Amino acid sequence: MQTDQVLSALYECFRGKGWRLYTCTTCNNLIFSKNAKTLCWRRKECGQEKKFLSLPKQKAMVVPGQIKDVIEKAATKKGYNRVESIPLTANHGKTDLIIAGVQLYNDVIHGKAIQSCFPDRCVISQPCVRMQFADKVGKVDGISTAFVNTCTEHVGATVVEHAFAVDFWLDVLSCLGLHVCDVSLVYRTKKRNWGTGDFLSHDLFFMYGDLELGDASYAVVPTRCAGGSGVLQISDVGFGVERIGWAINKTDTYYDVLQPWDMQYTTEVNDLYRTLTLLAMTGVKPGPKGAGLQFRRLAKQLYLLTPNIFSFGLVSYYFRYWGSFTTCLCGLEVSSSVISREYDRLRNNGIASNNNWPAPKNDESTEEYLERMVYSKIVTPSELRKMYTP
Ligand SMILES: [Zn+2]
Repeated sequence: MQTDQVLSALYECFRGKGWRLYTCTTCNNLIFSKNAKTLCWRRKECGQEKKFLSLPKQKAMVVPGQIKDVIEKAATKKGYNRVESIPLTANHGKTDLIIAGVQLYNDVIHGKAIQSCFPDRCVISQPCVRMQFADKVGKVDGISTAFVNTCTEHVGATVVEHAFAVDFWLDVLSCLGLHVCDVSLVYRTKKRNWGTGDFLSHDLFFMYGDLELGDASYAVVPTRCAGGSGVLQISDVGFGVERIGWAINKTDTYYDVLQPWDMQYTTEVNDLYRTLTLLAMTGVKPGPKGAGLQFRRLAKQLYLLTPNIFSFGLVSYYFRYWGSFTTCLCGLEVSSSVISREYDRLRNNGIASNNNWPAPKNDESTEEYLERMVYSKIVTPSELRKMYTP
């Protein structure tokens, strides 16, 4: 699909509704906007930081679960089939964990099925984990390792149908109280590869002021599928539900949308509990490779940041949060114990090597390990109290 073909089809669809096309004077990105826009705001040099916070505020705050419900209801009215989120462990492709809702078509893309078991046109709210910006959590506002990607997917869509999908989302944002005049769509093309060959994706970024809420991609993706056309022509429009929440609530930081207000722990620690809880409740267990290894890395980071205390309270907080978006395979008790066992394993190894004590047993909780050290007369209870009272 030629670049100009997609762009002009999009332009044709939006022109009648008062949208004009501008060019960012800093980076040359094309911008669809209802106001004369000279900056795309996608990068620091293309606009001011957190400008969206000065846009009109609404009276009531919303939680991400409510946003998801509004979107899904509107989408089903427009004929999208609602699909439950898929398990977080990606079976095929380049990632260990699901990073976007469009991966529900992984089977077809990677040649494991001729036809997807999911409908061609659907709406899905998919919890995702992206580790590539993990070091920016708490340092750059708006970043978390886990988030909900609510998307509409349309397999076999024409460009015009894709433009309809974009239009649907503009309506939804407006229903949610985000004024369309404050939204601009920044266009770019990007060469991509999902492990089945290069393809060009035509992306429109939904910018609310300078905050990126989501993007609409149109692409013809090569597939490994033996039967069929060998390509998946797809309209994939996805939003970060928490980002939309921040845009609506306009709290001082993005993390106010995600974390308990009391902030007993740092943003980094909260992010680790948040993502580990999601992994545990969707059945991921610590292991030597793939998703299990990601679990181990996160747990290790958690142990290094807070080596003396494990918070069951935070696990239960995030368990409730993810419960609105995912069918949990493991209940709260099992999920907490999967995380705390891994945490305790690291903690026990740390205690043993710091004190030169006998090695901990597999699957021994820290409480059990310390008790065993007391009963083997390695340490006395009063010495232990001195060592481990926070
Ligand atoms: Zn720019």
